[in-house]
Amino acid sequence: MRSQLDDHGGLRHLISLDGLSREALTGLLDRAENYRRFPGQSAYEGRELAGMTIANLFFEPSTRTRASFDLAGRRLGAHVINLDTQSSSRVKGETMLDTIYTLEAMNTDVFVIRDSEAGMPEFLIDHVADHVSVISAGEAHVSHPTQGLLDVLTIRCHKRRFAGLAVAIVGDIKHSRVARSTARALQTLGTSDLRLVAPAPLLPSEVEFSGAQRFIHMDDGIAGADVVMMLRIQKERMAQSADLDDAQYFRQFGLDARRLQRCAADVLVMHPGPMNRGVEISSEVADGPHSVIREQVNNGVAVRMAVLAAIAATLTRKRKPL
Ligand code: ASP
Repeated sequence: MRSQLDDHGGLRHLISLDGLSREALTGLLDRAENYRRFPGQSAYEGRELAGMTIANLFFEPSTRTRASFDLAGRRLGAHVINLDTQSSSRVKGETMLDTIYTLEAMNTDVFVIRDSEAGMPEFLIDHVADHVSVISAGEAHVSHPTQGLLDVLTIRCHKRRFAGLAVAIVGDIKHSRVARSTARALQTLGTSDLRLVAPAPLLPSEVEFSGAQRFIHMDDGIAGADVVMMLRIQKERMAQSADLDDAQYFRQFGLDARRLQRCAADVLVMHPGPMNRGVEISSEVADGPHSVIREQVNNGVAVRMAVLAAIAATLTRKRKPL
């Protein structure tokens, strides 16, 4: 994969957490912690992106990621364009590249892209102009780097460490870009007890997630866990999903109050959303005292501000004088 950093080590693009060092991740998390504001406080308003234009191109559904990239850009002073499957000319047959070139002609500086095709963000990096950046907002099942960052930020805010933590990721790991990015970030930051918990058909292939332990029984996988991250079953990425029985899945892999007792007493319960209550998680747990699910959403805005600000600093060095 192409380097996401420029010659000075500045963040140029963000399409994967692979290849980013512990220092690079920590730098982004520190920046994001600065931007964090809690509900009820005034949001951070800055000028880090003043004069810049960001195009959010979402060709797969999104609530949290899309809204938070939009807010993040505006709160740092950028102009933000939002296009999605319905509103862009891609429905009229325009290619992705023609859409990109059209928006580049309008002085777009940063493309935030979510697409169901693996390889699309890297393809765009190869084709955008030299002064333009690409951020992935979710690439097929492959990666979701800002979700990985917001997940580790949420863990850091509560635990203040990564080494020595037992983290269980539970559910449809095979089709999850979140699991791939969050696992990568955790391992880079020093978590060695990483557990993948899923029915055998939803575990990823053996070559992926090296260093993680695999469990097909939930009670074993979450025993003593400090963090449990629940995942949705990604039916949209399965050829056949009709034979999945939600009630049976919940009995075997759903997180309810009884199962939660198997985890550490101060366990954090996480979920990237959207949640299917009663399928992978009970409402009692999702809304209970261990849940940090809404904090993850809050941190999502801060992380996206941090990534945009880091990229803006890199692009500013490349700007042509008037
Ligand atoms: N929102 C996350 C994603 O875009 C998780 C999910 O859809 O289940 O991958």
